[in-house]
Amino acid sequence: MTDSCIFCRIARKEIPSNIVYEDANVLAFRDLSPQAPTHVLVIPKRHVASLDDLVDADALLLGAMMLTAKRVAAAEGLASGFRVVTNCGADAGQSVSHVHLHVLGGRPMAWPPG
Ligand code: 5GP
Ligand code: ZN
Repeated sequence: MTDSCIFCRIARKEIPSNIVYEDANVLAFRDLSPQAPTHVLVIPKRHVASLDDLVDADALLLGAMMLTAKRVAAAEGLASGFRVVTNCGADAGQSVSHVHLHVLGGRPMAWPPG
């Protein structure tokens, strides 16, 4: 955890968020600026800057994040499809340096993304 990281602060409940799922290791909450009718972020509670900073020992954590994304999609009723995205680094447009999965759904989506 870091003092300056906004997602660490959300994980510590210092900043309010609309939480849709929580367990000991993972938190899922609604994006402040939703890009689809459902837009939920899935984060590890422990600070990890990006996908690039996850290591082999984090395989279970990463799996838990992906399974959380799937469960969030089911809970949101996204039976016709959804997208799971992680932006890693500047070229991908990562704006918060605490690894997160975007779970997007509720509308048709174009491919490839911009
Ligand atoms: P990135 O651009 O790093 O892939 O995604 C960061 C996401 O975090 C953005 O979609 C942005 O809207 C969201 N975000 C940034 N600050 C906050 C916040 O304080 N609360 C919530 N709920 N979402 C945030
Ligand atoms: Zn953090």
